[in-house]
Amino acid sequence: MSECKVCKSKAVVTAQASEEISYKGATLIVPMAYSTCQNCHREFITTAQIHQNDKAIRDAKKAHDGLFTSAEVAKARKQLGLTQEEASLVFGGGRNAFSKYERGEVSQSVAMDKLIKQALKHPMVLHELFVEAGFAVDKNHLIYQDDNVVSYVAYKAANDHKYTAVKSMKMQEEHYG
Ligand SMILES: [Zn+2]
Repeated sequence: MSECKVCKSKAVVTAQASEEISYKGATLIVPMAYSTCQNCHREFITTAQIHQNDKAIRDAKKAHDGLFTSAEVAKARKQLGLTQEEASLVFGGGRNAFSKYERGEVSQSVAMDKLIKQALKHPMVLHELFVEAGFAVDKNHLIYQDDNVVSYVAYKAANDHKYTAVKSMKMQEEHYG
């Protein structure tokens, strides 16, 4: 695996230490990876560990802010039955958005986080996003609500009042524009 750049020994072990990071007045405990050479006892951080630590810090901040961590974004996407490419088309954010979120290279925006959570909570939201993304969705497309499979038509009929309410709320907001 990695080699000590000083003594060239390959007897390098990976270790982890908890580091305290101040963030928005809170103290976050973040696991940080580093390497120790067992020959010369030098401690160093590899490039891979720098990326790993960046990801750990980003995830800790997101968890503190109530946003999905990179692993949670991946879990949500799989729950929605989408590939990374499909998720980027459905939710926006650019072609590689989800692979970057899930690798922890980039944090999703607060708006993106909210949209993913709404799609998880409300099958109709996901359905509408599918339609907008140009995905083929037939009229009798089955959607999942909790553990019950209901048809889209039946679901829409049962929830029509809900959408009327949302519509009138949106009209109120327009007065502020
Ligand atoms: Zn060494």
